[in-house]
Amino acid sequence: MMETVALRSVLDYHDANVLSVYLDVNPAKPANQGGRRAYQIWLADQLKNLADSIVNGEKRFWRDQAARLQEFVDSFRPSSKGVVIFSGAGLWQVFEMPEAPRNRIWWGQPLTVPLRRYLARRHRYGLVIADQEKARFFAGDPYVIEELSTAELNNRMAEEPSRHETTSFRGGGGVVASGDRDDDLQGRAQAVQRRFMDSVVQQMAQLATEYDIQRWTIAGQTENRAILKDEMPPALRDAVISERTLPSTAGKGEIQEKVLSAWQVFELQERTVLVDKLLQQGETGFQVVMGLEKTLEAIQEGRSSLVLIDYDLDGEVWVCPQCGWVALAAQECPVCGKEMRLVHLATAIERRAREMGSEVEIINGEPARKLKINGEIGAFLRF
Ligand SMILES: [Zn+2]
Repeated sequence: MMETVALRSVLDYHDANVLSVYLDVNPAKPANQGGRRAYQIWLADQLKNLADSIVNGEKRFWRDQAARLQEFVDSFRPSSKGVVIFSGAGLWQVFEMPEAPRNRIWWGQPLTVPLRRYLARRHRYGLVIADQEKARFFAGDPYVIEELSTAELNNRMAEEPSRHETTSFRGGGGVVASGDRDDDLQGRAQAVQRRFMDSVVQQMAQLATEYDIQRWTIAGQTENRAILKDEMPPALRDAVISERTLPSTAGKGEIQEKVLSAWQVFELQERTVLVDKLLQQGETGFQVVMGLEKTLEAIQEGRSSLVLIDYDLDGEVWVCPQCGWVALAAQECPVCGKEMRLVHLATAIERRAREMGSEVEIINGEPARKLKINGEIGAFLRF
């Protein structure tokens, strides 16, 4: 599972002397192989450049964090395409990423927005792969999946006829209606199958509660999926967003390839709907605001319920270290008069929105293109 506790520790860290680094460490790239790797060279250059811009009061903190980071990256052996590191006096977090990010470095409050693209999921997902005698259960998000448990057809299911079975293939008086033994055997096998799938469905419901799963992918052969769906109560059936043909013996690689992409597409579709809705309502200004200035104003007035931010939104903004006020241009806080600090724009807005009780969605890919030409940011309003 993605480390949400670790992410929370970064999001809640308010000290401004933090080095945030995003690196494309993809081991498949030739430039990232051999003794001196591309990302190591990039980082060394950036640290050198940044060092000149660090003000006197921060130099000591800077030296500690830069040295620790350099040392870590030089001995780091990546097992994923990207890595994100946060290094501060009371903070050290490393996140390995399933995709290579754009190389970035930032000194100040933690630069969390690009990371949230991967960690911010809209739903928790479940996967069940079922065949006639076995079912495997998984939970995850669009980038990570883990196996939870297995269910197998047991003797009890095979031997004890249920009431369901009695009514389904015997006549009303309990007399076998048909003399055809093959039919009986077939009916009995079907009943056993249904009982097994019914137990699978019960386990799905249990896991959904335990792991907070809101959406499901069901996998297996077509006929098994059909029986499974047949046994599901309507609410659970509605939570099924995709089906995949997968053998119950599938390995982790095959499962990831077939399932994670479906979950990514699902979330992309949901975000597309959100952006379209924002733009549509934006045409008449109905309960939405668009653009940086108006969105920031709505956030700080507590009117925003959901902010959509373009993943690539870059730049800086002023933040008051005392009361948290955010301003596009101000040396002193208009609220409390304290001297303000320059902070990464998207990160500052995300933090401020969360403080003010608003949800935030980081938008990337196709829907981000539409958002980009409409001010890169907007918000749905409570009032
Ligand atoms: Zn202030």
